[in-house]
Amino acid sequence: MRFKVPRELIPWNPTVNHEKCIGCKTCFEFCSHGVYSWDEEAGKPVVSNPTNCVVGCSGCRSQCPAEAISFPPLSVLRNYM
Ligand code: SF4
Ligand code: SF4
Repeated sequence: MRFKVPRELIPWNPTVNHEKCIGCKTCFEFCSHGVYSWDEEAGKPVVSNPTNCVVGCSGCRSQCPAEAISFPPLSVLRNYM
């Protein structure tokens, strides 16, 4: 997909609900784009590089056993195309 604005201006990245997250590390291990880092102390993922997230991808969400990962609706992307 091509967008008319720089990646930094496109609001597309995962959000983790830490109350739901069970700390299984699947999202951290699944994403090959370095979006997540791992907070050893909390035992939870951190979305430390949100703009590395591939616009339109939501692969990690479907891997999460706790349904703790969310994304904006795909329709928001129309504003940037
Ligand atoms: S949506 Fe895709 S690119 Fe973005 S964090 Fe999840 S697996 Fe990585
Ligand atoms: S996959 Fe879901 S439950 Fe597992 S660490 Fe990531 S957010 Fe938490």
